[in-house]
Amino acid sequence: MAKKQQKYVYFFGGRKAEGKAEMKALLGGKGANLAEMVNISLPVPAGFTITTEVCTYYYNNRNKYPRDLDRQVKAALLRVEKEMGSKFGDPENPLLVSVRSGARASMPGMMDTILNLGLNDETIEGIIKKTNNPRFAYDSYRRFVQMYGDVVLGLKPQDKKAEDPFEVILERKKAQHGFKLDTELDTVHLKELVQEFKDAIKRETGHEFPEDPVTQLWGAIGAVFGSWMNERAIVYRKLNNIPSDWGTAVNVQSMVFGNMGEDSGTGVAFTRDPATGANVFYGEYLFNAQGEDVVAGIRTPLPIAKLKEDDPKIYKQLDTIRKTLEKHYKEMMDIEFTIQQGKLWMLQCRVGKRTGFAAVKMAVDMVKEKLISTTEAIERIEPNQLNQLLRPIFDAEEKRKAIDEGRLVAKGLNAGPGAASGRIALSAQDAEEMAGRGEKVILVRIETSPEDIKGMNAAEGILTARGGMTSHAALVARQMGKVCVAGCGSLRINYKEGKINVEGKDNIGLKEGDFISLDGTTGEVISGKLETKPSEVLQVLLTKTLDPKDSPVYQTYASLMKWADNLRRLNIRTNADQPDQAANAVAFGAEGIGLCRTEHMFFGGDRIMSVRKMIVSETIEERKTALNELLPLQREDFLGIFKEMKGLPVTIRTLDPPLHEFLPHEEKETRELAEQLNISVEKLTEKIHSLAEFNPMLGFRGCRLGVVYPEITEMQARAIFEAAYLAIEQGYKVKPEIMIPLVGELNEFKLQEKIVRRVADEIAQEKGKKISYLVGTMIELPRACVTADEIAKGAEFFSFGTNDLTQTTFGLSRDDAGKFLPLYVQNEIIPNDPFEVLDQNGVGQLVRMGTEKGRSTRKDLKVGICGEHGGEPASVEFCHRVGLNYVSCSPFRVPIARLAAARAVVHELHSKPGSRSKSKKSKSGKKK
Ligand code: PEP
Ligand code: MG
Repeated sequence: MAKKQQKYVYFFGGRKAEGKAEMKALLGGKGANLAEMVNISLPVPAGFTITTEVCTYYYNNRNKYPRDLDRQVKAALLRVEKEMGSKFGDPENPLLVSVRSGARASMPGMMDTILNLGLNDETIEGIIKKTNNPRFAYDSYRRFVQMYGDVVLGLKPQDKKAEDPFEVILERKKAQHGFKLDTELDTVHLKELVQEFKDAIKRETGHEFPEDPVTQLWGAIGAVFGSWMNERAIVYRKLNNIPSDWGTAVNVQSMVFGNMGEDSGTGVAFTRDPATGANVFYGEYLFNAQGEDVVAGIRTPLPIAKLKEDDPKIYKQLDTIRKTLEKHYKEMMDIEFTIQQGKLWMLQCRVGKRTGFAAVKMAVDMVKEKLISTTEAIERIEPNQLNQLLRPIFDAEEKRKAIDEGRLVAKGLNAGPGAASGRIALSAQDAEEMAGRGEKVILVRIETSPEDIKGMNAAEGILTARGGMTSHAALVARQMGKVCVAGCGSLRINYKEGKINVEGKDNIGLKEGDFISLDGTTGEVISGKLETKPSEVLQVLLTKTLDPKDSPVYQTYASLMKWADNLRRLNIRTNADQPDQAANAVAFGAEGIGLCRTEHMFFGGDRIMSVRKMIVSETIEERKTALNELLPLQREDFLGIFKEMKGLPVTIRTLDPPLHEFLPHEEKETRELAEQLNISVEKLTEKIHSLAEFNPMLGFRGCRLGVVYPEITEMQARAIFEAAYLAIEQGYKVKPEIMIPLVGELNEFKLQEKIVRRVADEIAQEKGKKISYLVGTMIELPRACVTADEIAKGAEFFSFGTNDLTQTTFGLSRDDAGKFLPLYVQNEIIPNDPFEVLDQNGVGQLVRMGTEKGRSTRKDLKVGICGEHGGEPASVEFCHRVGLNYVSCSPFRVPIARLAAARAVVHELHSKPGSRSKSKKSKSGKKK
């Protein structure tokens, strides 16, 4: 398979490397960056990289290497020897190497590494002579034998409970001499250990420890390639979507030692602070130590700033390297360095991991420092990282401690990001009462229903045992900006006893009133109270308790958002049903309301009573009387929303959910309602039963309600238009858009449209003035997508309800999927929860078809999306590509959608080279 002259080995060292940073696919991240550091004249111990292609070859050819590899490794080794002035296996002046893995994507700690390779009973003498430090030499030797014995020859603990055989020998030796610390062992002890380790390897594995350095080298190379397929690495790849055919490279590099005395040392650093993003050199080091000493926590490392005093020359050199790296990579880099007898060596550099805070700050600062462009800044920030600026968060240290203490109760779906702590309330009513007493509350329910809305509003966070990403709890929580963990299947909630048990965790028992903490960003549920940090951006934008001038975090956020807005073409609207939600969304930059779910208004105040009256009405007259009670209340809501939106478009949807959702479910409530309605309990129960459906989400809901009860649509249309006229009278502009849900057939739409237009005309006549408005539809059914050209004959706009469209396309109940979908995702049957991330290949194709067909009839058809996917970054990008006019999402996701829409433009530019000049599209270039 391999071509004869194919290059498998890339040398780096001295002033020139054969590889470069762009060759990550071939050389792995580590190898490519080692080469790049050489190319920008940084001091790197010489070495070579065996390519990822060799790894693939190795696995495709029953663990064999390509024929020419041996020759190429030998040649590279010669160059390394020349560069370092020492020889592999030379007893006088031996070269020692490390052998490390290095995949294209970082897989920290997942694969194997071997250090100090090349040591044997002869070369040890050379090292002793060179360093004049026999203890150091034997300590390195015993570490090497231990590592080699474990990684290459397989002498390791056989199960979770077994002890490491090398550690057993080491501990025995210390015990024999009454030592506590490894450092108390002297040269003689270490020399004995080397032999004892070798004996144990032979005894337990049957393998002789190889004295020949070349044999050692090939053993180590094989082990590193082999570790690509170890269980840890396989699991890590799955979790991080790393394809197994990428393979790992192997880096063989000259060893340098930070433990050769007080003029040696080692450290790790970031070119900026990875937690805050501050432009300061950030890191730690230790003198006379090896890399593992810095991370192992046995000795406390010193802050890098201290190096300035301890060794000003090295500090200056490092600081210059820091600047060189940032200038070159235009990124915050994570570095590892070693000082060997006064000489600085760079061992690794890679783009540094960072918090969301730091990502935003560094990107914005780097634009100001003219290191990167605004487009690059936008590209660098994952939209969901903005959550860290928008939401309260837990103190990371405190949370880690809680988890270490075994307080992790369970993990559910991360349905509403942010952090919240409070006392458990098991009913919405309790939540309201407890919040009324000034307590912070977490509402815990098996699942939520619209009835719980007030309790949800009163709570800091919501936790449910059932329901998926578009369950009632999830979408209402997001809209309210509440922290939410949904579908936490291991919770056993007993309302009667006021207790929560956790499947498989007998040690955890929670009860009403106990403190609990939710991390809605990760889905973790933790028992007890954890402190939360408020968001500065919210303090500026929503509570207005912080002056923007006093908040650098806000200023950074605002700069980024401005750049994003200049770039994006998609409009961003919001899903909001109340004036306060609308106000929040506008503060976050929403350009309209894409979905106002009118039914959510039915639960405020005492309206539920009128709604229930309307539902149980026997005659049209009775129903109209009940609807007349609702009319002024809905009108008031719409007026509030129109006023908040100040002339921005407001899409209001007519009634959608199955009617039984509004009726009581418990016996006690049924009795109370019967009394209030002045009907018998039997009659009411009969009515409730008559409304029960096997498949309510596919039943009597959406426009079907308005088709059967046109007076409901009529009342809602009247409330909308009367509110619109009132708003105009009060000096506001209005842009109402009435949206008909769950249309699958043009005639359904037409029937509803006719009512809306008739009411609009009647009110226009009464007021003596017409206002402009649109009547459009939600596209939530596959049939609506397939017949979109027909439907567009009537509908003036489309809004994809991708929650239902996902449900109907997959034939998968959005309310029940939480039970098994996580398993599907875990087992990679599907890549993501399709209720969270739009299924671009399936549901997405229907969105594309619906848009194209709709526009084939109505060229300028305005098309948006208002399912939960409208705030999910990858889905927003898809909507951009399909040519939608807007996405609509919950208020707190508006900034995320703005950034995602801008990134869609950046990615579009990358896919069309040469069109970069068109990137600065003005707002006027947006679709309306
Ligand atoms: C949808 O189905 O995507 C939608 C927005 O409507 P709802 O979630 O209210 O059914
Ligand atoms: Mg829907």
